[in-house]
Amino acid sequence: MIDRLGRNITYLRISVTDKCNLRCRYCMPEDGVCKKDHADMLTEDEIISAVEAAASLGITKIRITGGEPLVKKNIVAICRRAAAVEGIQEVCLTTNGLLLPQLAKPLKEAGVTRLNLSLDTLEPEKYAYITRVGQLEDFRAGLDAAMEAGFEKVKINAVLIGGFNDNEITTLAELTRQYPVDMRFIEMMPMYDSGDFSEAAFIPCTKVLDYLPEAVPVAHDGGVAKLYRLPGAQGNIGLISPVSAHFCGQCNRIRLTADGKLKPCLHAADEYSIKGLDREGMRKVLEEAIWNKPAWHGDLDAVHRSQAGRNMNQIGG
Ligand code: SAM
Repeated sequence: MIDRLGRNITYLRISVTDKCNLRCRYCMPEDGVCKKDHADMLTEDEIISAVEAAASLGITKIRITGGEPLVKKNIVAICRRAAAVEGIQEVCLTTNGLLLPQLAKPLKEAGVTRLNLSLDTLEPEKYAYITRVGQLEDFRAGLDAAMEAGFEKVKINAVLIGGFNDNEITTLAELTRQYPVDMRFIEMMPMYDSGDFSEAAFIPCTKVLDYLPEAVPVAHDGGVAKLYRLPGAQGNIGLISPVSAHFCGQCNRIRLTADGKLKPCLHAADEYSIKGLDREGMRKVLEEAIWNKPAWHGDLDAVHRSQAGRNMNQIGG
């Protein structure tokens, strides 16, 4: 499915819930999610119909996200059914990892091909601070479970926050020597409700390279990250720069929220509802949303905030 600017849209990110077992300060409010009527959320069957409609238009890669996707009771069934849809080659999942000790193996068996884990700090007090309620040891148990289950190409994503974790760039990067993982640093995006951060918190991810003089550039893997590698490392360092150097010209993705809204651009207000439609109806709305995908997400910085109209937990990242 080619949009009006010639971009080939092959990647659908599906948020299966707004709920999360953490409360990360840049992502969602302390008191959790705004309550929505259960009847307004996509059902499992609707999620799978959306995957089928998307696959019929050329989507080959799905990412399941949230909120926290692993708090969704039927998450294994959703992944299994999505992986079985004709045309879907990859089902990836983004998680904070806390429930992986119970779920890593079932997810692998269900056909999840790749995991991205979120981790902003390796210091227990700072982990508790940034997540408001989390414990670092639970993340570590989740990472170990992902390794034991045999997931390959696990990626760990850290949101880069000036004055919070820029002094941990070298220790976070060391994870690529300790584990067969990629460590990716992503610039913090100024969302609806991430207003607690001062301008100094928004730092460009090129700053990472100041701390890693040994890192050498390596070939692009088709994703949006610029890749580097430390000598002796088992995985890459990735820099993702949605704010300082956007990659909208290469954007191949579209998003679906848990309440059934297609968002052709993460930071645009435009939404197209597919809730309650059959597969053919979803297909038509997908075509319309993809055709109307904005050229770029507009200025983003501490002053120009995202126009998404939602917090990240209500979109999926
Ligand atoms: N709960 C899951 C997790 O923690 O990975 C999936 C959902 S979470 C919204 C997906 C990703 O978005 C996480 O890596 C999170 O750090 C990132 N994220 C959330 N708010 C962000 C922001 N304001 N700027 C950049 N990344 C953000």
